[in-house]
Amino acid sequence: MKPSIKDVTEKIEISKKSKRIFLQKCYALFTEIYVDVDGWIRPCCATSSTGMGNILENDLRSIWNNKHYRKLQRTLNSNNPPEFCRVCSLNTGINGGDEKYLEKLYAQGFPTLPDPPKIGFYWSEEEHKAIEY
Ligand code: SF4
Repeated sequence: MKPSIKDVTEKIEISKKSKRIFLQKCYALFTEIYVDVDGWIRPCCATSSTGMGNILENDLRSIWNNKHYRKLQRTLNSNNPPEFCRVCSLNTGINGGDEKYLEKLYAQGFPTLPDPPKIGFYWSEEEHKAIEY
């Protein structure tokens, strides 16, 4: 069940006191790896358009330690997470299941966050290959 506006408002107050912008920490990165049928490694099941490396080209250990994973480890639970986390709808994600959480914050006058960090690879239809963000 999605949190109500009242729930979100109360959580925002708590977040302000703790200086955390997002509602909760996400541990997906440390508990799961999603391997797609084409070999692309995703940080979790909610990030189907972002690849962290391809297991057909590199071993899992080197992907796990690459610059994209390291950046994600640093930013996931910070106040400047990547774009796909800012709109995450999973109950265990940083928005507590509300993909519109940040939108609601902005509607209440919260200052706009800096541009999210660029992490991983995306598929370019034009170039027919994976491009690094
Ligand atoms: S916040 Fe959501 S999108 Fe980001 S790593 Fe956690 S589960 Fe995945």
